[in-house]
Amino acid sequence: CGIVGYVGGRPALSIVLDGLRRLEYRGYDSAGVAVINSDTVLTEKKAGKLANLEKALADRLSDDIATGTTAIGHTRWATHGGPTDRNAHPHLSADGRVAVIHNGIIENFARLRAELEATGVEFTSDTDTECAAHLLAAEVRALRESGAVDGPQLLAEGMRRTVSRLEGAFTLLAVDVQVPGAVVAARRNSPLVVGRGKGENFLASDVSAFIEHTRDAIELGQDQVVLITPDAIEITGFDGSPAAGHEFHIDWDA
Ligand code: GLU
Repeated sequence: CGIVGYVGGRPALSIVLDGLRRLEYRGYDSAGVAVINSDTVLTEKKAGKLANLEKALADRLSDDIATGTTAIGHTRWATHGGPTDRNAHPHLSADGRVAVIHNGIIENFARLRAELEATGVEFTSDTDTECAAHLLAAEVRALRESGAVDGPQLLAEGMRRTVSRLEGAFTLLAVDVQVPGAVVAARRNSPLVVGRGKGENFLASDVSAFIEHTRDAIELGQDQVVLITPDAIEITGFDGSPAAGHEFHIDWDA
């Protein structure tokens, strides 16, 4: 339902939680975050209001989760799988390296899930979303082994290959511990905007999530992938061709 991503030089958790709070008016049944700090992905997710998530995080505020500078956050409106802690996003790949959040519905998830389970992947939720985490981790692993691309491009190309397998409507955001300092996103029939900062960049389902940090925004077009790092925003089509979103300045109070 609500989606926020951040990469930059500041502790990301509080920025992402503030962003989720700005999107709270939309309604949701659970919330969660994933933060990258050095070589770990740290997650917390809870059914219920953001206050439940914040309470769970309160015990961890001296932890690496409070200081990592790359993060994604989600408020969920359950469509597949009940509104429980385990079905809340983010969803992790089986190797724990990739974390994914998702708005929308992946129509062909049952087929993808059966295919992944046949290769030995164990699912830990009832959501349609989780298959995207396993698919993306497998694509990134294959790309790394082939040596075709490296660095943040692993995530961008991995996401393009992942969305080519998906049917339905989605905004997907993902991080990978082995690609620190980057967040990748894709959109089809579901909203996604980028906020351009100085030495930091934002992603959100709605500009109100980052308006207190920047008013320079780019609305992604249909079937586009965006890769953000602290200093760059790179947009391509699902086929990898260079693309540009719609740039605009937010001159109203969101
Ligand atoms: N279909 C996903 C789920 O049920 C995402 C729902 C949403 O848009 O929040 O987990």
